[in-house]
Amino acid sequence: MYEEFKTFISQLVNINICLKKDFVLELIDEFDVPIKKLNYPNNSLDNLSISLNFYKNFNLDYYNIINQGIKNKDIIISDEFNSHVNTKTGKTYIKLNDNDGDLITIIHELAHYIDRILNPHIVPDKYWFLGETFAFYIERELEKKLGQKYSYLFNIRKNNRLYMEKNLLQIVKLVLYYENKYLKTGKLRLTEKDSINIKRIMNVGEDNLINFCLSYPIANITSLYLINFCPNITEEEFCELCLAYDIKNFFRDNCHLIGLDNKTKIK
Ligand SMILES: [Zn+2]
Repeated sequence: MYEEFKTFISQLVNINICLKKDFVLELIDEFDVPIKKLNYPNNSLDNLSISLNFYKNFNLDYYNIINQGIKNKDIIISDEFNSHVNTKTGKTYIKLNDNDGDLITIIHELAHYIDRILNPHIVPDKYWFLGETFAFYIERELEKKLGQKYSYLFNIRKNNRLYMEKNLLQIVKLVLYYENKYLKTGKLRLTEKDSINIKRIMNVGEDNLINFCLSYPIANITSLYLINFCPNITEEEFCELCLAYDIKNFFRDNCHLIGLDNKTKIK
């Protein structure tokens, strides 16, 4: 396990991080708040029809693509498999949990489906870390439409996003710690004490781990920017808009909107 981890860390060192290091450290600190994951209630919403209806009104092309995907069984919605895309067959699996959160899961995963099936993709491969931003952005479009009616749902989602992002940023913190150690001495001396951390890191199982973990807080912050400041976004300009704005300043001014107090400002 230790050898595998050493190789893993040494390889990560060469990967460019998609945000400036000082901002990554700021995010780790800002998201480090006491938070618990909340459970969604089950009011037996007709999640699939609400989702389809949303897409029908939002973008008719997307709606038709989704319907075709469901018909062809390229989109498989069930409670059997974890949500994922099978890259060999191109099939998208969407796992339901039999609660109201399924509405957001379906909207989110269908956004990934649309992004990947369009040619060219909305998020080109070189900007893969913005794939989540597109899915979060579509979630926020849903919230714009149904936020009043289902406010409880979006409040839980807001909480659970933070919960997940906090945990991912804690993983980043650990990786940076080991990277630093490795960079200083060219070696990694590991003991029994490190094994819990190593497991936490290796469980994420991503080659591009830091950028993968960052892609979620980036999605949370950037989707908020897009929904508030960029009306009528076209597919072509999506990534451009995500990359051109000042994420650091926007985050500092608006972190209360994603559920955080701005610690930096108070200091
Ligand atoms: Zn996603």
